[in-house]
Amino acid sequence: MALYKIVIYPDPMLKRKAEEVHNLDHNIIKTIKDMTNTMYASKGIGLAGPQVGILSRVAVIDTSFGKDISHPLVLINPRIIEQEGYVKGEEGCLSFPNMYAPVARHERVLIEYIDKKGKEVRFEARDFLARVLQHEIDHLEGVCFIDRLSKIRRDIIKRKFLKKR
Ligand code: ZN
Repeated sequence: MALYKIVIYPDPMLKRKAEEVHNLDHNIIKTIKDMTNTMYASKGIGLAGPQVGILSRVAVIDTSFGKDISHPLVLINPRIIEQEGYVKGEEGCLSFPNMYAPVARHERVLIEYIDKKGKEVRFEARDFLARVLQHEIDHLEGVCFIDRLSKIRRDIIKRKFLKKR
């Protein structure tokens, strides 16, 4: 089992846009497996490619908080095709250890992605899972959760975080 080292803010990797996956080859399957293991080992609920230095549009999610680690949601080339409502909720990120802030997200999203068998899937999520999906898809665009905050709040969080490190 190989684990990745998680990229920590302000690493410029977190600002880079990931590229579409065209081939579900051995490399990408292994990457996804290692990303899943890394997420569980870090007690995270989501991890996107750029957070481990992989600029491919892949993300893994598991919102069971370690209760059921056998069914991570594996998203390849995910994109939001419908969105509805707004709700604020506390968010954190493996690239910002011990840092949390309330972020406004869509309450419901309909996403489309490729699963690890290469099948195209449409999936609707609400509330917390919808939040995690939006957070991870943002990472593939080079966007972190602090980028969704007001400038004042973002500056405070940045300062606090960099001081702690
Ligand atoms: Zn994150």
